[in-house]
Amino acid sequence: MDTFLFDETIFGPIYSRRLGNSLGINLLPCNRKICSFDCVYCECGWTLNQVEQRGMPSHTEVSNLLEKKLIDLKTQNNIPDSLTFAGNGEPTLHPDFSKIIDQTLALRNHYFPKAKVSVLSNATRIDKPDIISSLLKIDNRILKLDAGSELMFQRINQPTTPISLETIISGLCSFEGKVTIQTLFLKGEISGFPIDNTSEEEIQLWLKHLELIRPERVMIYPIARNTPLDNLNIISKEQLQQIGERVEALGIETEIY
Ligand code: SF4
Repeated sequence: MDTFLFDETIFGPIYSRRLGNSLGINLLPCNRKICSFDCVYCECGWTLNQVEQRGMPSHTEVSNLLEKKLIDLKTQNNIPDSLTFAGNGEPTLHPDFSKIIDQTLALRNHYFPKAKVSVLSNATRIDKPDIISSLLKIDNRILKLDAGSELMFQRINQPTTPISLETIISGLCSFEGKVTIQTLFLKGEISGFPIDNTSEEEIQLWLKHLELIRPERVMIYPIARNTPLDNLNIISKEQLQQIGERVEALGIETEIY
């Protein structure tokens, strides 16, 4: 299926159900994806070369482009609700991620102090103290947790460097609850092996992880865009709601998209 790449460093603003009028910041190249995961459902397509960092914008380019855009938005009275790090891969892989966060917070404070700064991340770099401290400076840390078991984690997210689900969960716990978890539910098959993070066994394990992490919120999604793997099934809204009710029963706010 046709997947999609963002062709700009600063894109939008676009309307996002979870973040409102959201101005996107893509720290990855504009013509290819760089990620530490290779999720079977990734709207950007397969991860082809995760090591090659060529083509990432410099922190100065990001800052200049962002400031120019914020000035334009001010002139148009187009007020962003969120400055959102997302795009063609994993934003925390940028070598100057921490510096860019500081620059973005300064620009936000100057031009649109009420806007939130949000990062969508796959949580593979939250064992690094500088990444954790940068994420703790911003308003919305939205981190991925798609599986209950190690097996399903490896099948769905296909890390491109060795990392275990246990390491991810321990990193997520280090935020002491100041984190939002996002989970995409799906079923399907890869190379003849089943993919299903909605089975009772998977859900029970996933709920146990949530009890440990105690996130502020959990965001639950079905597949909504084209995926690189063809034979994936969309989970019904009813089933997502049932899963969400089990999260709410733990006293954790849940949003279903
Ligand atoms: S973490 Fe995000 S960008 Fe990376 S492969 Fe998964 S869905 Fe795609």
